[in-house]
Amino acid sequence: MATNTRVVAWNGLCVLCLLHEIFNFLFCLELQITMSSVPVYDVAIIGGGAVGCAIVHDLTGRGLKTVLCEQNSQLVQEASAGNSGIVHTGFDATPSTIEHQCLEDARILNKTIYNKYNLPFEERGALLVAWNQDQMSKLPSLLKSAHNNGVTGARLISRDDLLRREPHLNPAALGAMIIPGELVVDPWLIPITLAHKAWRQGAQIMRDCKVLGGHLETGSHWLLETSRGPIKSRIVINCAGLQGDLVEAINQSSPFEIHPRKGQFAVFDQSAANLLHSIILPVPTERTKGVLVFPSVYGNIVVGPTAEDQTARENPQVHPKVIDELVAYAHFVLPQLAEHPVVATYAGLRPATQTKDYHFIVDRDR
Ligand SMILES: Cc1cc2nc3c(=O)[nH]c(=O)nc-3n(C[C@H](O)[C@H](O)[C@H](O)COP(=O)(O)OP(=O)(O)OC[C@H]3O[C@@H](n4cnc5c(N)ncnc54)[C@H](O)[C@@H]3O)c2cc1C
Repeated sequence: MATNTRVVAWNGLCVLCLLHEIFNFLFCLELQITMSSVPVYDVAIIGGGAVGCAIVHDLTGRGLKTVLCEQNSQLVQEASAGNSGIVHTGFDATPSTIEHQCLEDARILNKTIYNKYNLPFEERGALLVAWNQDQMSKLPSLLKSAHNNGVTGARLISRDDLLRREPHLNPAALGAMIIPGELVVDPWLIPITLAHKAWRQGAQIMRDCKVLGGHLETGSHWLLETSRGPIKSRIVINCAGLQGDLVEAINQSSPFEIHPRKGQFAVFDQSAANLLHSIILPVPTERTKGVLVFPSVYGNIVVGPTAEDQTARENPQVHPKVIDELVAYAHFVLPQLAEHPVVATYAGLRPATQTKDYHFIVDRDR
């Protein structure tokens, strides 16, 4: 028995050694191939967050030869991993901005994609609630801009109507604007699915692949220097989120600066699911949409996010004091939430810049 065990162990060891040798051989071979013939792509995408995954999916679907480089060992770990998971209609976007245009286009596109790939979403709609007279006075102009932005179903509703729709809401509410069409989604699953579909169609998804440098070669392509070797591509798209300005600075001085803005959240137990149907929005300010109380696509009620400017670009932490304030606000909005426990907290960092609009820069010469 003892001998047999040793034999089995020895054979196992041999197989392991053999596998190790094969692995080493393949690895060296891959390195040699990489050095001798650097692959040339139509498009290289830097960053595997929500933006990079959507772009690689779209361009691969158009028949282009694509590569996505993500510095982390997994996709969707940064800004895209710590958000609210709400697909906004753009009712409060500034007209003629890139944000406005994207949100308008996305209204139809999003649902088409979710249905096509069987991704969970719920059209909960939002209620932008006024809690004092000052906020009440702002509702008509918010309604006007919603209509100007094409969200024609938005309308003002009375306090009675509001409480009929949301009977567990604090009766201190004075009135609201109803915004149909706002969705809740799983914000992680969507980009992961898009990247997966792109990969199935031939895209190269390279994880642990940090873009360290790059330049435009004479001819018509870029040579990117990455932690997994060189990559050649006709076009490079910078989707590096929180590192966007640093990646831009690889080859030119960046026309934008990232100013990380942290958002913290508290998640209530699913036992509270019946307390809320819609996304409860506060009256927004110039700087932020404010703290929301909303149902997640999995039935939890969530409160957040905060908007805290900071310099660090990674590892956003939750702070108990801030979470306590969020929970107190959620209890104010929905008093019966006090009977349900908080089961999770999380934080994310927004890749905000010095301006409110998105940055979409095309350099045809480069
Ligand atoms: C608190 C909070 C709430 C939000 N709520 C919503 C919401 O409800 N609805 C909504 O639509 N949006 C919301 N957002 C915004 C949304 O999450 C972001 O706009 C979006 O996730 C940005 O995606 P991204 O791909 O640009 O950035 P990221 O997700 O940060 O992806 C960039 C990727 O680039 C990689 N990278 C960086 N440098 C390099 C390099 N040199 N080489 C290789 N890879 C690199 C990073 O590792 C990262 O994976 C929220 C954001 C936060 C933080």
